[in-house]
Amino acid sequence: MFTKECPRCNRTLPVSEFNGRPNPDWGKRYNHKTPIWTDTRCRDCTKAVTKLRIKVMKARREGRLKAPDRCSHCQQIGRIHGHHEDYYKPFDIIWLCVSCHSNVHHGNITLNA
Ligand SMILES: [Zn+2]
Ligand SMILES: [Zn+2]
Ligand SMILES: [Zn+2]
Repeated sequence: MFTKECPRCNRTLPVSEFNGRPNPDWGKRYNHKTPIWTDTRCRDCTKAVTKLRIKVMKARREGRLKAPDRCSHCQQIGRIHGHHEDYYKPFDIIWLCVSCHSNVHHGNITLNA
């Protein structure tokens, strides 16, 4: 039985609790632990995130939520993403440019809360 830890809820769950598809590289180049690729987050968390995205999108469409034109990390002006540190707080949003946003998710930068 393969298990995986969900970084969102910190539970260790069987991989069947994650959305997954066959891992074509299993046993090959990398030392992948499981024979399937899975979403990082468990199914429950994925659901929570999807719900939240819809909420935020709706709020933005209705003008209740306005994205600034500047990244709150590097102050660059451009396309701004809403980043959530906590998906259960849909309106606690950190506005980041595309590159800072991916850096945050890859652990290259940390945001001081
Ligand atoms: Zn989870
Ligand atoms: Zn930035
Ligand atoms: Zn994010």
